[in-house]
Amino acid sequence: MTDRIEPLGEILLCSDCFKDEGLRIDAAKHGIEQDGNCPNCQSPYGQKLTLRHVKSLAWRFFVSGTTVRAEYGAAPVIQLNEEHYGRSDIVPSAWLKNDVNLIEETAKIGIFHYGPRLWMVGEVEPLKALQDPVTRPQIIERILK
Ligand SMILES: [Zn+2]
Repeated sequence: MTDRIEPLGEILLCSDCFKDEGLRIDAAKHGIEQDGNCPNCQSPYGQKLTLRHVKSLAWRFFVSGTTVRAEYGAAPVIQLNEEHYGRSDIVPSAWLKNDVNLIEETAKIGIFHYGPRLWMVGEVEPLKALQDPVTRPQIIERILK
């Protein structure tokens, strides 16, 4: 399904720009159908991507795609933002390297390993105490107060 209702920004990339199959498919799914050659790879066939498309593609692929679910929570392994532009610390596989560079340079973002705060994956002392039958009554008492 393509996205035609938004006001169009400048076309920066297209789905054919990427080597990685996952990125190509996602970009083709969310990009815009528009005539003309891609300003980056010159392909006339790819779905076109604006800055907004590139950023959401990066988010889906790296952040959403690396989110780890724990018993009581979830957190991404990788994050990205403008503040980390030029300071990426991920080491992508060889076939992904150029795609990652292209995304970083186009969207001016940095992609980095994210140490999630432990409460995000359920490492909360009262929660752990609640799971232990020995300490459970005290915690319930504390919550009720
Ligand atoms: Zn392209």
